[in-house]
Amino acid sequence: MITSLATLSPLNPPDTYVGRFAPSPTGPLHFGSLVSALVSYLHARMHKGSWLVRMEDLDPPREQAGAADAILRCLDEHQLHWDGPVLYQSQRLSAYEEVLETLRNEDLLYACNCTRQDLQAMGGIYNGRCRNRTIDLDQPHAWRLKLYDLPPDYAALDQDVCFADLIQGEQRQNLRDTAGDQILKRKDDLFAYQLAVVVDDIAQQVTHIIRGNDLLEVTARQIFFFRLLGAAVPEFGHVPLVLNEQGQKLSKQNLAPPLDSTNAGNNLWHALQFLGQNPPLALIKASATDVLEWGKAHWHMSHLKPGNRAP
Ligand code: GLU
Repeated sequence: MITSLATLSPLNPPDTYVGRFAPSPTGPLHFGSLVSALVSYLHARMHKGSWLVRMEDLDPPREQAGAADAILRCLDEHQLHWDGPVLYQSQRLSAYEEVLETLRNEDLLYACNCTRQDLQAMGGIYNGRCRNRTIDLDQPHAWRLKLYDLPPDYAALDQDVCFADLIQGEQRQNLRDTAGDQILKRKDDLFAYQLAVVVDDIAQQVTHIIRGNDLLEVTARQIFFFRLLGAAVPEFGHVPLVLNEQGQKLSKQNLAPPLDSTNAGNNLWHALQFLGQNPPLALIKASATDVLEWGKAHWHMSHLKPGNRAP
């Protein structure tokens, strides 16, 4: 059984609240990311908790030069000030490798050389094909985590994952049917988001993960991973997505316009309005500090509607 890893820290004392915002530096912040950052910030501050920023810079081919600094500057200009130093995932590679090693020793991980086409032929959910195949480790291969039919020591985790999302309500997922074994290290040798996000949320002792609703789908597999690593499972809340006129999630990929920090107060006002908080019209041209003060004093998570899911 995995009981303790040097990379994972002890549990929080009761009543501690640690929230976080974890952008990937693939481009500048847009209105949708501001909305997610703002909810996690306000919810943390309402609980007198801390709010961390973690830069998820694990995928250099997708990153944009200067984006990490631009994101931090933009948060700062919107008066969303974080606690403590920013954690950069690019500096955590040895921690990820250590967790992989432990999983390998526990027979929870296996090498896989299936291609994207193979996965497509399986209908998009990996069917465990490489679990019992011998893979040439001198050739490019990924490492996959077993999510079902686990070794005997872990059999208790072999069940549907249920959780109550703070915004989206009760959720239940069967990981064999909806997720399949997950890649933790890719064929191109990069660590996968699914590994790094959980290892770091544990290491940073995050208690509340409030983020965009596009990640609701992957939450059950992350909860499974928290349990597998013997860690406390945080609370999750998934914020409705901001959609563009074509009904797509605002994203860097579909070229959502970057936030203009000269309108920081106005951006925050619109974000609060989107979140159903009804900020007074008198504040529409106010400074970021004033709008945020109002937001902190009047924050009601319950005004948020479950809203749209990722298409
Ligand atoms: N880095 C991820 C993203 O920008 C978010 C990860 C998370 O909040 O769990 O989409």
